[in-house]
Amino acid sequence: MATLHPPRLFFRNAVQLITLSGPPVPRRGTALSELGIIPRGGVLTEGETILRSGPSRRLERDALRLRADLVDCRGRVVMPGFVDSHTHLVFAGNRVDDYERRLRGQTYEEIARAGGGIQSTAHKVRNVSPSALQSQAQGFLTQFAAHGTTTLEVKSGYGLDNAQEMKILRVVRSLQATAQLELVPTLLAAHVLPLSYRGHAAQYIGEVTGRLIPAVAQQKLATFIDCFCDRGAFSVEDCRRVLTAGKECGLIPRIHAEQLTRTGATRLGIELGAASVDHLDKLSASDIRALARSNLVATLLPGANFHLGLKRYPSARKLIDAGAAVALATDFNPGTSPTLNMQFIMSLACTQMRMTPPEALAASTINGACALGHGDRIGSIEAGKQADLIVLDVSDYREIPYYFGMNHCVMTVKRGRIIYSRRQSVGGCNA
Ligand SMILES: [Zn+2]
Repeated sequence: MATLHPPRLFFRNAVQLITLSGPPVPRRGTALSELGIIPRGGVLTEGETILRSGPSRRLERDALRLRADLVDCRGRVVMPGFVDSHTHLVFAGNRVDDYERRLRGQTYEEIARAGGGIQSTAHKVRNVSPSALQSQAQGFLTQFAAHGTTTLEVKSGYGLDNAQEMKILRVVRSLQATAQLELVPTLLAAHVLPLSYRGHAAQYIGEVTGRLIPAVAQQKLATFIDCFCDRGAFSVEDCRRVLTAGKECGLIPRIHAEQLTRTGATRLGIELGAASVDHLDKLSASDIRALARSNLVATLLPGANFHLGLKRYPSARKLIDAGAAVALATDFNPGTSPTLNMQFIMSLACTQMRMTPPEALAASTINGACALGHGDRIGSIEAGKQADLIVLDVSDYREIPYYFGMNHCVMTVKRGRIIYSRRQSVGGCNA
């Protein structure tokens, strides 16, 4: 039987303990590279919380006194768990057929017109039970944990009608109750226009703002409200209506912005005080300046560019150099970014977007946490914060993006509990 309270744990002998200690705000500019590394570091946890971190030898006495269980990290890297602030976790089936069609030369829009794309996933969602949706998502969550993610945002969006959207958000609520990872739910009601509303976007938006948003808010099924503002999706005006209605019901806005075309969604996000604007492939120079002056997190999703085989990636360098707060996330979804591996996202960020390894690491942890409004609780290893950390089988954190496509994670700790361990790799663990 599982213990009711997580144990006291002492992680010792980390070759590098990446603390990311600092104020609970998104890191920008040169601060994005300050990882707060403690050589030969250790972490002492009590219950769900980090009690102390520092050089291992300074924690030995406390660990002994508290009779903490020992986890010998054997010269590996210890860092905060990844915070994946943009995923579409709950869907049915996959889109491997679309993948092949695209490789044979069809465009995203042609595939959508031929009945593929988001509409085909929505069709599958409609035809499966909540328990089937939940068990597919649970399988992915096991993989998220094994790859070092400890918190993830989860969007609805494959329902395309009120009842199905509610079904997806209830699945997320069930997962929150059963999964060991932390899930942050987002209502993505305006993802694409349902086929039955073709030519009647305003009517669909009316349904969403008049009925769905109040119902979701009343049942507390989501923290955030999102919309896909782009060519083939929704206009800035449609999105303003949706996000404003969400705000009025207590949901916090975030936006899929400037992915396929520059629509002005970033400006809308700034105007409405969104937590994050995501994708940002087609930003203008003035958008970049405006973002740098704002409190919004600019969340980049290079997995989508990779999977779609695009040559161009978002301008991470320009954003960082201008002073914007950049985060990285997987955009895990069946159509454009079927990866849940944040380590691979770090590789893409470095190789394709010229981010440095320390920038990519901070963008994948503390800045992801800030994009979800939880920078005060997760995203760094500091006394008083939640004990969410991972052990990676590398001797220098820069090896994480360098050895690309691998899973270096050998242990994942969530709220002070070891929820994943590649047993033969981590020794001395009697927890
Ligand atoms: Zn997305």
